[in-house]
Amino acid sequence: MSKQQAPVNKNDVVEVTIEDLTHDGAGVAKVDGYALFIPKALPGERLKAKVVKVKKGYGFGRVLNMIEASPDRVEAPCPVFNQCGGCQFQHMSYDAQLRYKQKQVQDVLERIGKITAVTVRPTIGMNEPWRYRNKAQVPVGEREGGLIAGFYQERSHRIIDMDECMIQHEENDKVIRQVKELARELGIRGYDEEKHRGTLRHVVARYGKNTGEIMVVLITRGEELPHKKTLIERIHTAIPHVKSIVQNVNPKRTNVIFGDKTKVLWGEEYIYDTIGDIKFAISARSFYQVNPEQTKVLYDQALEFANLTGSETVIDAYCGIGTISLFLAQQAKHVYGVEIVPEAISDAKRNARLNGFDNVQFAVGEAEKVMPWWYAQGVRADVIVVDPPRKGCDEALLKTILNMKPDRVVYVSCNPATLARDLRVFEDGGYETKDVQPVDMFPWTTHVECVAWLSR
Ligand code: SAH
Repeated sequence: MSKQQAPVNKNDVVEVTIEDLTHDGAGVAKVDGYALFIPKALPGERLKAKVVKVKKGYGFGRVLNMIEASPDRVEAPCPVFNQCGGCQFQHMSYDAQLRYKQKQVQDVLERIGKITAVTVRPTIGMNEPWRYRNKAQVPVGEREGGLIAGFYQERSHRIIDMDECMIQHEENDKVIRQVKELARELGIRGYDEEKHRGTLRHVVARYGKNTGEIMVVLITRGEELPHKKTLIERIHTAIPHVKSIVQNVNPKRTNVIFGDKTKVLWGEEYIYDTIGDIKFAISARSFYQVNPEQTKVLYDQALEFANLTGSETVIDAYCGIGTISLFLAQQAKHVYGVEIVPEAISDAKRNARLNGFDNVQFAVGEAEKVMPWWYAQGVRADVIVVDPPRKGCDEALLKTILNMKPDRVVYVSCNPATLARDLRVFEDGGYETKDVQPVDMFPWTTHVECVAWLSR
């Protein structure tokens, strides 16, 4: 449909019914077949919307007034829900979110993967879906001469000063508040993104929920950190559970948070956390799931789907710091892990030693290159687990898995669309998708995590 043919014009007011949600959580309405995306509107709702943008084939609207609200609608509990881009679903009951996530996976499997024989299981949610995050990454700036730290306003880089986040663990909120206060007192300057001036760019707090250990990371524009000694001393006096204070230097004009250089200012290089019976060392830059409670649920589900008896050889592709690998190693004969980030692999090896596993081995590299090499060396696996980033598995990797012919494949996915695409490749290669289990790792956001398994 061309722009001229769009049945609405900018600033028109239209009465619509919301039919669905987009993957980023906006309501979808149709006006004579033309899709109008309306943020913060829920399926089933009848409302008046103002058209704010008209594009070829689709447009955007804003809710003007509600005619009939959805029974799933609730008052967003967070006072900054409408300004902050962090959560998208606080206007929807938790129950409805879980149902929606299940439906979204089901729809995408059918639409993209042409997989119709599987009924996606109901999403496993949290009993207490607030305060779940174990990591806070807070941007720091300056406003009228004072240091501020909070969050970026939705779709912008304007920092809103803020002391509390309802999905963040209280300990992390406390750490951020205290560091902010100390930095203000000592006159440390917040970073000015436009002028590329100032000192402190981000404060990152990491909390080992099951050990109580805290890490504070100060990300600075240059090496220099004024009043460093006093700051460090006051941080660890004010926050008794701090085990590690780290500085990371990021001199670039970029919105990537971390720079290349990291140094320990005080205490340890790592904090520890446990998932089930396994202990993990976490460094400032390690990837570690942010919702520890649901991580246990997810990994237990992956382990259940792997159905190990102790005699199997298992490959964990995209293994990060070896979290899933070590979970699998509890019940397998031998586990191979592969991961592209060298630091993550040294963490994985350390974690294996820390827990006394001698049946795991890790390799650094692209899974799509290392797996064919393993295959050429004669490595075969009974079970292969993959946990790729959002873009899903590389084609070469999928091909190698099909060549290796494992009995089972367990697929952990943070993106239902690429999961569906890859499951289709497995189905065409002689596998059958048996179960798909969504696990809610990120309540109040649109993110959907799943674990699926296939049998040959
Ligand atoms: N299984 C881990 C990590 C999953 S995140 C956990 O649960 O903690 C996905 C991981 O894939 C990241 O650690 C990322 O660095 C890694 N990765 C991305 N592309 C890769 C590739 N081509 N080959 C191997 N690993 C890759």
